[in-house]
Amino acid sequence: MTIAIVGGGLAAATAATELRAQGYDGDMVIYAAEDHLPYERPPLSKAVLLGDEEVASAQVHDADWYAENRVRLQRGVKVVSIDPVAHTLRAEPAGGGESVEHPYDKLLLATGSAARHFPLADRAADPLYLRTIEDSTRLRAALRPGAKIVIVGAGWIGLEVASAARHHGADVTVYEVSDLPLVNVLGPEVAQLFADLHRAHGVDLRLNTPVDEAALAAADVIVVGIGAIPSTELAEAAGLDVDNGVLVDETLRTSDPDIYAIGDIASQWHPVLGRRIRVEHWDTAIEQGKVAAYNLVGGHEQYAHLPYFFTDQYDLGMEYFGSVGPEGYDRVDVEGDTHVANGGAFRAYWMKDGIVQAAMHANDWDASDAVRDSVGTVR
Ligand code: FAD
Repeated sequence: MTIAIVGGGLAAATAATELRAQGYDGDMVIYAAEDHLPYERPPLSKAVLLGDEEVASAQVHDADWYAENRVRLQRGVKVVSIDPVAHTLRAEPAGGGESVEHPYDKLLLATGSAARHFPLADRAADPLYLRTIEDSTRLRAALRPGAKIVIVGAGWIGLEVASAARHHGADVTVYEVSDLPLVNVLGPEVAQLFADLHRAHGVDLRLNTPVDEAALAAADVIVVGIGAIPSTELAEAAGLDVDNGVLVDETLRTSDPDIYAIGDIASQWHPVLGRRIRVEHWDTAIEQGKVAAYNLVGGHEQYAHLPYFFTDQYDLGMEYFGSVGPEGYDRVDVEGDTHVANGGAFRAYWMKDGIVQAAMHANDWDASDAVRDSVGTVR
């Protein structure tokens, strides 16, 4: 039996690890378009940018692990098509070259996301999109005292870059078209705290303000962080059901019974939330990797884990559990000291009809388990 894993990011590497941990002894191959060992991306906008860690620290395993565990890691190899009927795929060198057909019995798609491009910035200069080791290395080199950094988008990545850039003494301006940073996820009450945090650290945060050509022309470095697009072209061309992500059931199986999909690309029917959800977070890549490994070899485990993510900005560390659904929340409770720029620690709970939909803490690590366990309870 051959299990083919298409990807080479955290979700792919976790699934391979779990397959061996669970005793799968057969053939396994990972096709990884990037010419790197599989690695985690969160450090690229945090410890690596700050200069606290080398990129190698982000690797899931060292090269020996793949050899020792008989995982055929094909670095720099891109899968260009899948034939679900014949149970074959075609792969070629990512830089171009001849494609070769390979058979598979079960296939796992973990192709992740690509940064969403911003044409105005692409025309103006050579903007940075922070997705890969190469992007992070290039940005790290540009973060110097006094450098003029323009960041387009006050999302997670934009704000983490702002934090690292201020750490290096750069002059940072962030343009955001919404009223507040992160407002779609956190709502106005908590989003305001992030706006305050960045302004307290000297970021020129321009809300309700689209960036213009003059601002781009005046920048030494432009960083665009306006979201990611799931890499679903391969799945779509193979005839799998795709709709803002590869559609998978509660066991992470696609519309083809021998193909599973996980990580950033998977739009899953979530049995606890009772709706479809696609999550672009580190923890989902790991947890779905574990469940997919089990199901690829005949298991029927449901993926019922709730979303979780974290961020680090300046001295603030936060964790967020759960998910506010499309109907939103009708109450938010914020407890503790919200002056996070001065080391404050707080907890926030988003409720709908008295039930906690999502909860977070900032700098309150002892409360982490209680905050997580509050999700789904009455408050
Ligand atoms: P990816 O990590 O995108 O990996 C997919 C891989 O598949 C890529 O290497 C791609 O080149 C390869 N690939 C694509 N198509 C093919 C093909 N046809 N053939 C072969 N290979 C292919 N999440 C958090 O929860 N907290 C954080 O603080 C956080 N910080 C982040 C910081 C940055 C800078 C970025 C970019 C992301 C961050 N995330 C964070 C999100 C998290 O990293 C992603 O959710 C996670 O990487 C998803 O893993 P994945 O394996 O699904 O996809």
